[in-house]
Amino acid sequence: MHQGLTEDEIKAMTLASEKAISYRQNISRRSVTAKISIDEAVKRFRNPLPDQGMNGHEVIADMIREADDGLTQMSSGNYYGYVLGGSHPIGVAADMMVSAWGQNAGSALETPAISGLERAVCDWVIDLLDLPKESGAGIVTGATVANAEGILAARHQLLKQQQWDVEQDGLFGAPEIPVFIGDAAHSAPFAALRYAGFGAGRLQRLKVDQEGRIEVQPFLRILEKCEAPPLVILQAGQINSGAFDYFAQIIPAVHALGGWVHIDGAFGLWLAAVPELATRLEGVHEADSWAIDLHKWLNAPYDAGLAIVRNRSALVASMSARGAYLPDTSSQWEPSDSTIELSRRARGVPSYAIMRHLGRSGVRELIARHCRLAKQIAGELAAEPGLHVLNEVVANQVALTCGEGEERNSLTNRVLDEVQKRGIVYPSHGEWHGHMIIRISVICYATTDQHAQTLVDEIIQAWRLVQKHCC
Ligand SMILES: *Cc1c(COP(=O)(O)O)cnc(C)c1O
Repeated sequence: MHQGLTEDEIKAMTLASEKAISYRQNISRRSVTAKISIDEAVKRFRNPLPDQGMNGHEVIADMIREADDGLTQMSSGNYYGYVLGGSHPIGVAADMMVSAWGQNAGSALETPAISGLERAVCDWVIDLLDLPKESGAGIVTGATVANAEGILAARHQLLKQQQWDVEQDGLFGAPEIPVFIGDAAHSAPFAALRYAGFGAGRLQRLKVDQEGRIEVQPFLRILEKCEAPPLVILQAGQINSGAFDYFAQIIPAVHALGGWVHIDGAFGLWLAAVPELATRLEGVHEADSWAIDLHKWLNAPYDAGLAIVRNRSALVASMSARGAYLPDTSSQWEPSDSTIELSRRARGVPSYAIMRHLGRSGVRELIARHCRLAKQIAGELAAEPGLHVLNEVVANQVALTCGEGEERNSLTNRVLDEVQKRGIVYPSHGEWHGHMIIRISVICYATTDQHAQTLVDEIIQAWRLVQKHCC
């Protein structure tokens, strides 16, 4: 029987694609900020499910209309909040096909086309970042899970070295693994370490410098007294400063002890793709595993990230639901052997389309442009009396405070409130060295010099306004 689509289904899908286009076409004319509160949204949507269904295209039309004022325009070139990518339209187009195709990407045998596309994504990212070609890679929801995968692969390998089979025998009674992590690490690897059974209270947090980098000499002295091969988590791209740990000095010392180095490179690892910026991450490719987001700097639509592990068999042994098993030929590459999930959407496919669209030079241009703009923004803001940039701008992040002395935190908050209320641009808040900060992340594919100028103008105007009202 011909399955076909009903009139209603065709209308629903057509409407969605038309509305998707008009949303993105007009995104820069909207207020960046959502107009309703979560309470209003809950009141609007969280009602009992009616007994009777309704036409599909009306559901889609209602949903789009009712969600409209409750969206923050995260894909706008004027959005600088947190560290979020902008869902590149070519990735969105590919993502529509991901949903339409409805493939379960867990099995290569069942969906060879998707596995081919996703393997290209793994190869391309590994190649762009100059990581070891033989690495295993898992396409996951983001850096949180990618960090967890790197840490689970490390757990497997470090215990195997001590003749302990953690997949079989678990952690009770296992030899101890000393775990070191910088004090300015992101919350995600801390969570990942908890998931992996290391326990938040057992981690050894390392002292960091002004930029959030682990202090090398004190750490090397700690390592000298380390009695078992350690797991060390380093960071490429601190969330407030954008800083990179001293990979070239730390990684060889950890390896000399038989340890494992995992890199949380959610956004910052992308600098490794740009030859003139890659020197800031010198030595990073000597690590054992890396977590990187595709939905941040590559601007893939949510959600997508990559776990990359040099020793592929350690990744497979820790992930495969089929138990420790080592495929001997590349044709036996099975997607679910590298991920926590079995069933999953083909979340690598939009990244294929974006990278194919941009090419190597386009990806490099994107990263380089954002780093250049971040520096420019920081320079112009710092030139305004009373505004202070707290970080060395080595990537795409700028940490800003307003005013001096005791007033500083409240002035910074008021400036941020004012900027967000105006709705033209959207940086977000943060906390750095005990100060409230306005955190600017230049990461959306659409952000150009003109957007950057608007951001600077908006912040300076808000700062002058706040001063007039307070002082
Ligand atoms: C965003 C981020 C994470 C978490 O990544 P998700 O994609 O949100 O899961 C981890 N580490 C760093 C440094 C990040 O910036």
